Amino acid sequence: MSYVSSRPVVIGLEVHIQLNTRSKLFCPCSTDYIGKTPNTNVCPICLAVPGTLPLVNDSAVALGSRMGLGLRGEIQKYSNFHRKNYFYPDLAKAYQITQYGLTITVGGYLDIEADGKPKRVRIHHLHLEEDAGKLVHPTADGRLTGASYSLVDYNRGGVPLSEIVSEPDISSPAEAKEYVARLRQLARYLDVSDGEMESGSLRVDANISLSNPGGSLGTRVEIKNMNSLKALERALEYETERQNKVLDSGGRIVQETRLWDDAESVTRSMRNKETASDYRYYPEMDLAPIVITDEQIEEFKKSMPELPWEKRARFAGYGLSKEETAILTERKELAEYYEAVVSFGAPPARAANWVRMDVLRVLNELSRDIREFKVKPETLAELVKYVEAKELSGTVGKEILDILAREDVPFDEALKRTGARTGRLTGGALETLIDRIMSANPDLVEAIKSGRDKKGGKLKFLQGQVMKETKGQADPRETASLLSEKLV
Ligand code: ADP
Ligand code: MG
Ligand code: ZN
Repeated sequence: MSYVSSRPVVIGLEVHIQLNTRSKLFCPCSTDYIGKTPNTNVCPICLAVPGTLPLVNDSAVALGSRMGLGLRGEIQKYSNFHRKNYFYPDLAKAYQITQYGLTITVGGYLDIEADGKPKRVRIHHLHLEEDAGKLVHPTADGRLTGASYSLVDYNRGGVPLSEIVSEPDISSPAEAKEYVARLRQLARYLDVSDGEMESGSLRVDANISLSNPGGSLGTRVEIKNMNSLKALERALEYETERQNKVLDSGGRIVQETRLWDDAESVTRSMRNKETASDYRYYPEMDLAPIVITDEQIEEFKKSMPELPWEKRARFAGYGLSKEETAILTERKELAEYYEAVVSFGAPPARAANWVRMDVLRVLNELSRDIREFKVKPETLAELVKYVEAKELSGTVGKEILDILAREDVPFDEALKRTGARTGRLTGGALETLIDRIMSANPDLVEAIKSGRDKKGGKLKFLQGQVMKETKGQADPRETASLLSEKLV
């Protein structure tokens, strides 16, 4: 049971999404830093050696613009960079280059649905900034945390991030979780980021306050260090309860930054929250402003793919439930796979079931992504059709899928291994049977030939008759093609 707050909850999120450029934001170093030997993915620019000059990576500008457009924000034709001053050992320059005031996009919104209710979360702006390095605390036994001293690894320093700042429109931990899930989905659809929270490609700073009795906003607390959607929701639930208790006992909330401790399931105070004036934002004189032309904006708009909500709306045409649609469109690669299966002739509702239940189950068992799935959409379509035509039982169908997903064997070989048999009726014998069924149903034949079978139900009936007469032994593809040849 989740905690029920006695005061209205107000949440605003700052989400950092790593942009999937090949090189860092201001230098040619690779962004592929995970698992690399510490401090090997660096150069004089990202190590901030005096005398070096940064240069903006155009791809980062393009990806940031794309993400902003996906959020229905407005691209600023002129934006610039600022230095955000603070000392931290993982920040070699002692300032971070970020955008402040004039940012790459402003405004926009993201529509979500939580607990069955639609909700619009307004976006304040999206800006570009560089990532910092990482502190590691390795222990003698090889663990990377726990030591009493810090080592610094600059490999990640300078990797491009887009920070998306929401308005404080989010009213519950569940909504916050859903908002981040949709944001991540959008970033993936746009090929802007892999959006993995576990590896740090997507990081959330959550601001949360409880409103005062008069309705004015309360003092907010910022929470960091959640590395999954579940952790984000739990941290916000914990914090809602903590703040309510402080207020109930007559205390007051102090503005501060707190860290989520996943193992203990608590937030802990880390530091008093800095305010903008602490950072001494200062225009970055080493970088020219970012100028985006009308032509570029047009190009960005033209290159936008179908967006998640557009895909969901279109999938309604397959007659699927909302839940099915949500699952099938969560990753665009899965949606594309599903549509390919349908395009190879599998009935949409059946195909949806197979993809949603069986394909996802097998992928989960193999810990693989749909992009690494061995069963081609045309093969799955065949399998679905065989089962539909009752030529194979559902159980055998699943067994075949399991084999095909794990081994590089042809369909017939997989079939043979299941021990099932299809003594298929094909060729002349099948044709003779079809002719017989057609002459037994002259009215239907006439109706189809004269174009009075708009929905295809009459043709289906004839196909069904063939299957019935042969006890499912007819080859469904051949039956369909023979029938359509004969019925023109
Ligand atoms: P800062 O400059 O300190 O980062 P901002 O005004 O830019 O502060 O806000 C940062 C984030 O905090 C935004 O996502 C905003 O929606 C959120 N926020 C602001 N006020 C509140 C509040 N009272 N409760 C919850 N979130 C808030
Ligand atoms: Mg901020
Ligand atoms: Zn570098």
